[in-house]
Amino acid sequence: MIDELLSGNVKFQNTQFKQNHERYSELVKGQQPPVLWIGCSDSRLQTGHITDTPAGTLFMHRNIGNMVPANDWSLATVLEYGIKHLKVQDIVICGHSDCGAIKALDKDLEDDVYIPHWLNNAIEAKQRIDAKIKKPSNPQEQKNRSRMIEQENVRLQVEHLRTYPIIKKALKEKRIEIHGLYYDLETGGLSKIV
Ligand SMILES: [Zn+2]
Repeated sequence: MIDELLSGNVKFQNTQFKQNHERYSELVKGQQPPVLWIGCSDSRLQTGHITDTPAGTLFMHRNIGNMVPANDWSLATVLEYGIKHLKVQDIVICGHSDCGAIKALDKDLEDDVYIPHWLNNAIEAKQRIDAKIKKPSNPQEQKNRSRMIEQENVRLQVEHLRTYPIIKKALKEKRIEIHGLYYDLETGGLSKIV
């Protein structure tokens, strides 16, 4: 596979990179992304493509399940750098359909070391939805439940994000806006849920 990646890169250099020479030369000097994007690691989400945005637009943080844990040094550093130094204006948390992290909330993962702990960050989303709906009795209801949990998880992670001191300060000073989005793999559509 690595050979395909490298030959794909040669193709990129000879086509898109050459065709957008001006933009790529500008990016050599530095970045000024307007958006900090927190998304899932899922390989089916090509964030720049689905939003039709060029390189230099989205400052990225990706993890399993687009989580915003209360004490995550990696994310906290991204927030600090993004807000204080890059001065992003919008922060997006984006969930998606068919999310493996949300499916895994229903699975027994005793053999895994890290995953069950990590998924605890989303457990409240599942609890909120299960308290609201009846137990699914067919595949369609099961799918609907998953979508509801995936979307509730975006709301939950937005709530978590709002607890970070740097976020509280930036919101108070009206320097940033927070948005919760949901990407549907079946339609390619992105919708705003928060
Ligand atoms: Zn996912």
